[in-house]
Amino acid sequence: DAKANGRRRWSFFDPSMEEHVHTRDKIARDLRRAIDNDLLSVAYQPQLDSRTGRVAAVETLVRWTHPEHGPVSPAIFVPIAEETGLINDLGLWVLRRACQDAHHWPDITVSVNISPTQFRHPRFIDQVIETLSLYDMAPSRLEIEVTESVFAGKDDTVLTAMKRLKELGLKIALDDFGSGYSSLSYLRRFPFDILKIDRDFISPVDESPQAQAIVRTIIDLGAALGMTVVAEGIETAPQVHFLTSAGCERMQGYYIGRPAPVETASALIKSISLDPMILRPASRLAG
Ligand code: C2E
Ligand code: MG
Ligand code: MG
Ligand code: MG
Repeated sequence: DAKANGRRRWSFFDPSMEEHVHTRDKIARDLRRAIDNDLLSVAYQPQLDSRTGRVAAVETLVRWTHPEHGPVSPAIFVPIAEETGLINDLGLWVLRRACQDAHHWPDITVSVNISPTQFRHPRFIDQVIETLSLYDMAPSRLEIEVTESVFAGKDDTVLTAMKRLKELGLKIALDDFGSGYSSLSYLRRFPFDILKIDRDFISPVDESPQAQAIVRTIIDLGAALGMTVVAEGIETAPQVHFLTSAGCERMQGYYIGRPAPVETASALIKSISLDPMILRPASRLAG
């Protein structure tokens, strides 16, 4: 899970166990300062609509360049923000920035990752409403990405919040589907609009018939449940071919476009236009 991952990746900063708490606290302090002084930034990664060959959405990914350590991965500092109570401020900062930047792309949706703590925060829905109205953004253009870790609590908070967001017109995505302890019962009990297949299943599709079978099945499942299916972590043309022939609606990954600052992302959104021949390959290529 995210916490275990965060701990394991500690070694990136300091290999000695007794330094961990110290390092974590220092990073938390530096992160606090970064949030307060507007020193975070975001990158936007395009998602391609495989039916049109155009960009349908962008995912917002937080970025932080530490004054001494250089760029720090969100896989490291987001879990620290979760553990140290900074995640609500961090998440609100990202949400505001994404909605502010969204006017650059009136025709596409913008997705924002929301951590479990932030999603469960009593002020979260009000913050979403306030932010949308502040930047005059249509709710239908905002997607909220959560992972299944949001279901850790055994209460109705998550379902209530999801229903509320959907009433407002937002879309909700289940991120990293298939990783961790995915339970199909979440798909039945919670009204997700979008299903994002984890990169762990996409990476091996070129060589693994098992991975292909699983990905096909998730795509069919999502379609049968009326969800938009997104494949994450696409890095090769054969993966694009496979996913297109399997009926995957949206594609995201370095092969489509890397996460980029707002200006670069804007240029990318305008320029990406995959040839229908690439999207609808001969059966020979589709494998
Ligand atoms: P995620 O939401 O699943 O985001 C996808 C991650 O995969 C991003 O990593 C992205 O840069 C990376 N990625 C995209 N395409 C490819 C590819 O083709 N190959 C490979 N190897 N990687 C690819 P990133 O930006 O480092 O973010 C890592 C995680 O940190 C995110 O996973 C998300 O869970 C979390 N995160 C990022 N930004 C935020 C945020 O603003 N708020 C919260 N709560 N979490 C965030
Ligand atoms: Mg995500
Ligand atoms: Mg993901
Ligand atoms: Mg992830």
